[in-house]
Amino acid sequence: MSKKILGNSPRGKLFVVSAPAGTGKTTLVDMLLQEFPDSVVESCSSTTRHPRPSEVPEQHYEFISEEEFERRIEADEFLEYAKVFSAYYGTRKQEVIKLEESGKHVILVIDTQGALLVKQKMSAVLIFISPPSKEELRARLFRRKTEDDEAIEQRLAWAEQEISMASHYDYHIVNDDLQLTYQILRSILIAEEHRVN
Ligand code: ADP
Ligand code: 5GP
Repeated sequence: MSKKILGNSPRGKLFVVSAPAGTGKTTLVDMLLQEFPDSVVESCSSTTRHPRPSEVPEQHYEFISEEEFERRIEADEFLEYAKVFSAYYGTRKQEVIKLEESGKHVILVIDTQGALLVKQKMSAVLIFISPPSKEELRARLFRRKTEDDEAIEQRLAWAEQEISMASHYDYHIVNDDLQLTYQILRSILIAEEHRVN
């Protein structure tokens, strides 16, 4: 089979993508999945938050109760988990093992707390995406209209904490122009696939 620009390695790598809510990480990772459906896969996290109208259970998240989430914490079923905006979010160990077995590059879209836990436990490439400014982040959250005003303010307050963690990541991209940011993101995956460890 002829060579492709991504997906020539028999083993995939683990990538962690974090960004303050509203920055554009979902949009950017969706672009990767669209361009490289045969070589990139995203892990489906579990959460106790309620689904948004546009979200498909088991595709965007596994939506579970707080009791079930806490049972799984006790049973040590999570690779990492964190409480973000008063809901639990976690990555199941079994989900990551299953995706790694596919040989594709695996992407975890998780917050900074979870990202640092993953970095301690596994070999992973950490990518941080930040908004061009706080004003632009606010504008994106309002345009997206998935949270009420109070929830948006909560996310903006937490954004500064998250941005201060960017120095712990391997890569930092500012998502100003979407197409340009996407070109940088896909270049990172392509370069990492060719890295000699
Ligand atoms: P996140 O997953 O980080 O919370 P989203 O991918 O949902 O963010 O993006 C938040 C909103 O900003 C969406 O409406 C999206 O279309 C928009 N958006 C993403 N990137 C850009 C960009 N570079 N310029 C303008 N709007 C953007
Ligand atoms: P949202 O509710 O906007 O989908 O996500 C809120 C935050 O939770 C985002 O920063 C997102 O990256 C993070 N998140 C989603 N899934 C996980 C996960 O499995 N673990 C951790 N630690 N954070 C997650």
